[in-house]
Amino acid sequence: MSAPTFYAQQMLNLHSRFGLSENAKILLRAHDDWKLRRIDQDELGRIVRLSTNMRKAVTDTITKCASIMRKQPTEVKNCVDIIQACTDILTAADKPPIMSGFPLMKLPAEIRRKVYTQYAEKLVSRAGGVVSFPKKSNCHCSGYTPPTYCQSRRVDMALAQTCSKVKNEFLDFFYQKAPLHFTCSCELRDGLKSNPILRKSLRSVKVHWTGPASDQAFALLAKCLGLKDLEVVISRSTTAYLTPREDEMRLFFTALKPPRLAEARGIDELLTIRGMNNVSVTHLQARQGARRSDEERASLQVMLRTKLKLPRPAGFDIEDQDQ
Ligand SMILES: [Zn+2]
Repeated sequence: MSAPTFYAQQMLNLHSRFGLSENAKILLRAHDDWKLRRIDQDELGRIVRLSTNMRKAVTDTITKCASIMRKQPTEVKNCVDIIQACTDILTAADKPPIMSGFPLMKLPAEIRRKVYTQYAEKLVSRAGGVVSFPKKSNCHCSGYTPPTYCQSRRVDMALAQTCSKVKNEFLDFFYQKAPLHFTCSCELRDGLKSNPILRKSLRSVKVHWTGPASDQAFALLAKCLGLKDLEVVISRSTTAYLTPREDEMRLFFTALKPPRLAEARGIDELLTIRGMNNVSVTHLQARQGARRSDEERASLQVMLRTKLKLPRPAGFDIEDQDQ
């Protein structure tokens, strides 16, 4: 026959008759929960370790039961049951606590994805756009200057610094959710070259079209199959570097007018991007650099919307999987 439960002991009025303390009753109830698998052994041990009074309640209870056994032979069985419960409780308390942390990787993949989604959404909804700071590329383009109308805040990427599997899964979600801002084409090129998860999962990009690597950056961007939203920021510095053809022309035709956007380095590669849902062209903030004309911005926007929203050609995804 199994030992009486806490409630059975209550029915027999054992706790009151044996003069057990409130802490002892809490522990005996927790022992009952452990027996019925409502809590695990680690949690039972944690209740004892909450304070020294808890452990004292266990030893006091054993002492009281031993004394009652000597004086009242009829209570031997009940006393033995309570002493047995007390030894179970002490065993749980002396067992080293499990320090392995929350077993995230033991959760089903769908649940993990929900955790990552919630974590990423929390970061992104408060951050707006995410920009790498400080700049990683060692080019000479100007770095990030926060806009005056909103406060920037640091995004805590602690989840991406755990094990490689969690990092890969989380970054995959983060890049899908976060609109990423790149302060120059070199930053975009370096990010895409060095980060395969970014290439695979990138969904929304804002990039200042400037720097010597725009052709390489846009060529890589055209191969990002997840990319749906693109915002191109233009400035006077967009034409600081020109296409190879235009560079060659200007060696011989010195009287040419100031270069236009159609001659900026990267224009050909930019026009190869396909499958966009949203495309826009914006001016650089006035305090960050010299602006181009509204006419140029509007013309480029119409051109990009006409070309970049076209569907990707059939077979594009297969031939460009490995970059
Ligand atoms: Zn740069």
